[in-house]
Amino acid sequence: MLPRSLILGKRHAGQHASRLLTWAAVPLIGTLAYPALAETSRRSAPRPGAIPLIFRFDDCSAKSDTALEKAILEAFQRTHTPLTVSVVPRVASVSAFDPAPQAGVPLPEEKIRLLREALDAGGVEVALHGFSHQTVRRKIGNAYLQPFGRYHSEFIGVDEASQRKKIREGREILERELGIRAETFVPPWNGYDRTTLKVLQDSGFTTLSAARRGPVDLDSSLHFLPRTCDLQDVQGAVRAARESLADHPLVVVLFHHYDFEENDPQAGRLSLPDLNRTLGWVAAQTDLRLMTLRDASRLLPDLGARQFYWNRNALLWQITPPWVNLTIHWPPRGVYQSLPAARRAKLFLWCVVLLLYGSLAFAGTAISRFASKRLLRGRPLLAWSVRIICVVALLALLLYVFWDLEPYWAGVAAISWMAGFCAGLL
Ligand SMILES: [Zn+2]
Repeated sequence: MLPRSLILGKRHAGQHASRLLTWAAVPLIGTLAYPALAETSRRSAPRPGAIPLIFRFDDCSAKSDTALEKAILEAFQRTHTPLTVSVVPRVASVSAFDPAPQAGVPLPEEKIRLLREALDAGGVEVALHGFSHQTVRRKIGNAYLQPFGRYHSEFIGVDEASQRKKIREGREILERELGIRAETFVPPWNGYDRTTLKVLQDSGFTTLSAARRGPVDLDSSLHFLPRTCDLQDVQGAVRAARESLADHPLVVVLFHHYDFEENDPQAGRLSLPDLNRTLGWVAAQTDLRLMTLRDASRLLPDLGARQFYWNRNALLWQITPPWVNLTIHWPPRGVYQSLPAARRAKLFLWCVVLLLYGSLAFAGTAISRFASKRLLRGRPLLAWSVRIICVVALLALLLYVFWDLEPYWAGVAAISWMAGFCAGLL
């Protein structure tokens, strides 16, 4: 195995004497561990054209399924696949979705042991996944009002002092219980704001892994490694990366314990055999460079704020109709691109979106012009009534679609058409 300081970062060092003993034992350990070392080097050594592939396993906490996590960690160890595990230090005791005050549940002894063993075996990074993974967003009434509920976050809109406290205390717990100093922060529900970025940078975190959305400060010195695909899509993402090697693509795979049917037979979308098959396939590929988020942050070029700025396409894809996405395969969704490629990709996506919704608005204008000339000419009262109704409908649509800042293509299409229709009535 590699020296622990390389694998684990700033894991607590022992006494001076024990350090001397360690150095004395290095040649022996080196000989014994040679096959594993050779394997790790083969995987992490930079090779021209090798595609960085990172696995991020979220939501490890006092409430997550330890037996399943053990099986998952073993599967990664068996195949010598590095893994970043995002740990919640004091998970909310009642519900993550209820902002009412709740006690935090400490990581149980069994979980701490499992994580320590995984860290000692090597190839595993522990990232900080918030503090309690509890939403700060208020709950909204009954089933009819639920669509108006905002998406969840533990950090968005939270004042700086509270964010600083959560992040500092969470990191201290991991340091105390696991003996690691977390360098990577994974915000719960991938939700964060500019204050989070500032606090992370001030606290010495090097890496933020969220999604391809969210604010970014172009002066930030953090490295950004957002999730690019799910576990089921690894092969597709790798294929897409192979087709665009010149764009220096990388793939960040996100999964959770609750994705597994072994945890939830109803909601689970994959199984342990699926994971083993995927990891077996990954192990058989010779052009992948398997890494943790921390190692990627240390070893890969760029990953800066500007690259993230241009790679944030989640909302653009969300407002593009599915049939367009099926027709146009570029830019590939499962990969994070280099800055020049991401810039080209985003400009292209904006052109597609503007052309699409501009055409729809134009169609709305043409139809209302034609209809109003035929039906409303000489009827001023009716014409004004129609105008007022249409403007009210447009405002209602805008409110409905943008209320949670999560617009989808159908909503944006309806707004474009209605805006065009209103314009045609003027
Ligand atoms: Zn989470």
